[in-house]
Amino acid sequence: MATFAAMLSFSLNDAIEWDANDPLASYREQFHIPLVNGKESIYLCGNSLGLMPKTARKYLDQEFKDWAEFGVEGHFKGKSPWFHYHKFLTKQTSSLVGALDSEVVVMNQLSVNLQLILTSFYKPNASRFKIVMEAGAFPSDMYVIETQLKLHGVDPKTGLIEVEPRAGETSIRQEDIEAILEEDKDQIALVFFSGVQYYTGQTFNIEKITQKTHEIGAICGFDLAHAAGNIPLKLHDWKVDFAAWCSYKYLNSGPGNVSGVFIHENNFKTNLPRLAGWWGHKEDVRFEMKKGFIPEPGAAGWQLSNAPVFGMAVHRASLDLFEEAGMKKLSAKSNALTQMMRKLLIEVLEHGNSDLFKIITPVNDFGAQLSLLTDDSWKHLFEHLEKQGVICDWREPNVIRMAAVPFYNSMQDVVKLAEAFLSFKN
Ligand SMILES: *Cc1c(COP(=O)(O)O)cnc(C)c1O
Repeated sequence: MATFAAMLSFSLNDAIEWDANDPLASYREQFHIPLVNGKESIYLCGNSLGLMPKTARKYLDQEFKDWAEFGVEGHFKGKSPWFHYHKFLTKQTSSLVGALDSEVVVMNQLSVNLQLILTSFYKPNASRFKIVMEAGAFPSDMYVIETQLKLHGVDPKTGLIEVEPRAGETSIRQEDIEAILEEDKDQIALVFFSGVQYYTGQTFNIEKITQKTHEIGAICGFDLAHAAGNIPLKLHDWKVDFAAWCSYKYLNSGPGNVSGVFIHENNFKTNLPRLAGWWGHKEDVRFEMKKGFIPEPGAAGWQLSNAPVFGMAVHRASLDLFEEAGMKKLSAKSNALTQMMRKLLIEVLEHGNSDLFKIITPVNDFGAQLSLLTDDSWKHLFEHLEKQGVICDWREPNVIRMAAVPFYNSMQDVVKLAEAFLSFKN
């Protein structure tokens, strides 16, 4: 490997020095780093499944302990009484996404929440019925939107507008989104985008998309699966109508874990239709067990079921780390790692096969992910990277995604990745 290092403008020694001055460096030890062949892997899959905080076990153990000790009485007698458990996540969740406490709630899982919220926010009528979304959205989002349209008797062929990149381009231009909104401004009911595009890693301008959407009199919502815990968010100030995200990608809360939901307070006043369950019922009268649903004020009124405490306990362990480190520092480190990754990968192309891949993540609009568009040689390259201890992912048809996550990735990971690319002979 040492021979390849000379080809890069930033060496492993430079990286060691950089890491020594990184104010977040100590967090790496607070996560379990998977091993490959007995050595710490270069884990670049935090955009898909974030690593496990070592504290997760302790938080979960506490709930097992309370369950063992108190049984049903754990709802009120536990260290963190289960009856209120979702509320223990509120403050950190609201600060993570830039919301008021009343605007967020943690519940269910992401796709379920999207369906629930859209039931409230997609209210087509004869003139306004169209939904605008990004082309090539994450499959669950495509299915959610398609079935919401059908649920309301709208044919997706006429009701769905997908904004695509221009021919020969890979990311979507803000001006094109705005032009499409303008063009169909009287027929659009809802605009629904991701915050960070899962495939290309493009970050969308949430504030501007929301602004334009409101200008044409429509509702604007976001799937923040790849944005929460990745980029700074100000959902309240940006006046986003609603958003939801999962907790297991950048939020490091474990496979399939709970989802967060945001509903702007501007939407509390309106008497929105919703699908209800007992946990969304007004808390002080919830246990009167009476007919007639009265929603709890705020986002909490969208809950259906009582809190899944074990998952939430793990999520809480992670949110505590986010609070401690702060999105500002995390985001600054994320930018530094990702920019260096781009720089060194470009050097890799300059030193070898310049057709090996193309970085499709925009130069300016990115979070902690780079997506490489590859050609046929990819499979060999992928196997080669795996052998070098790199864990990254492949998305059909031909993209590799790599995320340097500021909590547990280091600048050394970035340089080692570039060296692993350099040592590939195809
Ligand atoms: C990861 C992801 C999902 C996953 O949804 P689940 O309901 O948590 O399985 C949905 N949408 C987007 C955009 C995602 O990136």
